[in-house]
Amino acid sequence: MSLWLTQLQSPLSRAQFLAILERLEADPAAAQSLRREAREARDRYFGRRVYVRGLMEISNICRRDCLYCGIRRSNKGVKRYRLDLESIKACAARAYALGMRTFVLQGGEDAYFTDERLVEIISYLRGTYPTCAITLSLGERSRESYARLRQAGADRYLLRHESANPSHYARLHPPESRLETRLECLQDLKSLGYQVGCGGMVGSPHQTLEDLAWDLEFIQNFRPHMVGWGPFLPHHATPYAQEEAGSLERTLNILALTRLLLPQVLLPATTALATLSPQGRQLGLEAGCNVVMPNISPLEERANYLLYDHKAYLNSEAGEGIATLAKELASCGYQLDLGRGDSPLISNEEA
Ligand code: SAH
Repeated sequence: MSLWLTQLQSPLSRAQFLAILERLEADPAAAQSLRREAREARDRYFGRRVYVRGLMEISNICRRDCLYCGIRRSNKGVKRYRLDLESIKACAARAYALGMRTFVLQGGEDAYFTDERLVEIISYLRGTYPTCAITLSLGERSRESYARLRQAGADRYLLRHESANPSHYARLHPPESRLETRLECLQDLKSLGYQVGCGGMVGSPHQTLEDLAWDLEFIQNFRPHMVGWGPFLPHHATPYAQEEAGSLERTLNILALTRLLLPQVLLPATTALATLSPQGRQLGLEAGCNVVMPNISPLEERANYLLYDHKAYLNSEAGEGIATLAKELASCGYQLDLGRGDSPLISNEEA
């Protein structure tokens, strides 16, 4: 019986999403059945294969001042760095040698990374690794810029919407950051043919269940190829240093709901989830996740890319730890899949 799947496959209103979220919080058995169905839906499309993405953090220099983020421009305590072309080449070579076929380039909004510089990087990766997918996660840029990067060979773009409720978005960001712009970026990326990922933090400061209902409604309507959800985790040098971390249970429920809304979605069990709980990654998989993103940044810079405190970036969170990760996953019945792992939706869209 697929009670949840049936319910979540028909368009729901925000009020209906809210009622579901309230029920899940009140009834642990309901949450368990939701996660079981999410796992079954994932198995139907992807089996127990978990895609691996090599995540390189190319810069912690950021012009933005997001109130929750450890690398916000106001944080003067960060040792800032950026990777040059040579170190990016070296990261990619290491990831490729480990078998990874997706490179994710993530970073702050660093003006150094002009279109010209990014085109050079992307063209190099595209030319050297024709069988690999290139994912960018570099924040808000113009449509023209996204178009140039796409033309140079980028395949996918991750840009979490952070919060779909404008009044909540405004409590997480300074006024110069506008939800409207972020949503326009997501539309642009989609129309340019990127596989697009949105998402946010569960338990971010001031977030209510109603805000999460806005997020689920947005995901239902936008139909992204990928969704990144992790718990909010406080960073000591931000205005939200004293806020509580997001809850594990609530994060797992949101992951499971996302899987059932979009059964073919690519859904990572994030580093934040693994940082929140030692079982985080496994529980994420049990709630319908099907992607992991080991860190392939140069070791000496990893401690400088801290969006939140206590971030895990060694052992099974690291590219070098891929054998440990494979063993961990095998012990709970999952296999790493080192393929490109494109969204199953694109072949339909392009046909
Ligand atoms: N500058 C890029 C990449 C952002 S970092 C962009 O704007 O898209 C990737 C994600 O980390 C963010 O989208 C945010 O949701 C998450 N993040 C930032 N600070 C965090 C925190 N304190 N706890 C948990 N996740 C956080």
